[in-house]
Amino acid sequence: APGSIGSSVIPIVNKLQDIFAQLGSSSTIDLPQVAVVGSQSSGKSSVLEALVGRDFLPRGSDICTRRPLVLQLVHCPKRPEAAEGNEWGEFLHVPGKRFFDFNEIRREIQAETDKEAGWNKGISDKQIRLKIFSPNVLNITLVDLPGITKVPVGDQPNDIEARIRTMILSYIKHETCIILAVSPANADLANSDALQMARVADPDGSRTIGVITKLDIMDKGTDARNFLLGNVIPLRLGYVGIVNRSQEDINKNLSIKDALAREEAFFRNQPVYHGLSHCCGIPQLAKKLNQILVQHIRAVLPALKSRINSQLVAVAKADAAYGDVAESKAGQGVKLLNMLTKYCEAFTSMIEGKNEEMSMA
Ligand code: GDP
Ligand code: MG
Repeated sequence: APGSIGSSVIPIVNKLQDIFAQLGSSSTIDLPQVAVVGSQSSGKSSVLEALVGRDFLPRGSDICTRRPLVLQLVHCPKRPEAAEGNEWGEFLHVPGKRFFDFNEIRREIQAETDKEAGWNKGISDKQIRLKIFSPNVLNITLVDLPGITKVPVGDQPNDIEARIRTMILSYIKHETCIILAVSPANADLANSDALQMARVADPDGSRTIGVITKLDIMDKGTDARNFLLGNVIPLRLGYVGIVNRSQEDINKNLSIKDALAREEAFFRNQPVYHGLSHCCGIPQLAKKLNQILVQHIRAVLPALKSRINSQLVAVAKADAAYGDVAESKAGQGVKLLNMLTKYCEAFTSMIEGKNEEMSMA
């Protein structure tokens, strides 16, 4: 879906893959992981789902995410002939089975959670690994994590909070992990577990995006304007305010598409958020993430270029039997890379609001 994570980065990555293929290499660039952190029921699973644009994660007011879910999105070509559709999921623990029904994916996550962590609210740090294959996604890994809770319930051990914190840190401590620090707008930001944990893992805030959920259920007479502007707790990459589906919406099976339309209407109808459109809504969050991914790609291009250039020199030195340098694989690679560099620059200036035309010839 347009506006979902990676959608505008897909053409860039496809071009990169072309370049690698031209050079006879199957390698590709490693994109950063994205992980969600925050307290229980802050809306982490809801945010991830909206970014992917499909319904498949267990969500609810109780503890739902009780094992880390490592969600690998895998770009695959359209299969117009396929009757079952172009998008499916596969679990590591169910080899060989393709799940075309996304409700069945959710049920499998729940069943597998119970299997390892018990039915009575227990948690486990053993991962569930799920791949989603789709023509509309970028090859990227998203991690849904259990939320921080303080008081043990059900089968939870006394040190539940410390255990969950250790589990979360083991994911977000990696320099390549982008942290979505999710805090609900109806609680004080200064008490946010998400921001506190993000600061431990990423003290200078270079890879933390603040996500403020539940803007729709704030106390009457209050709003999140100062949160979003970074006036309460400044964050280098800033904040995005979100309106996800409520529990009632989930019970009524409100679709992601309808939820996005409603979110858009919410911001349009609240004068206090006018002028803040750059930090309001799921599409803006996707845009911010895409921008970070493009910057990452841009950063790896020079090394790629010099590798191809040295191949080009080698080709030029070789016999005429290798043919025209410009038509060689390396020559083609350089051409494509130059295009790609321009494209990344155009993308960045477009995001920065300079509104340049983007085209991918
Ligand atoms: P998680 O525990 O952080 O993964 O949170 P979930 O995504 O499971 O959401 C917890 C509950 O909060 C669910 O009942 C959601 O419907 C509800 N919820 C999440 N985000 C919002 C929001 O922006 N507005 C409203 N009204 N409810 C939300
Ligand atoms: Mg969750």
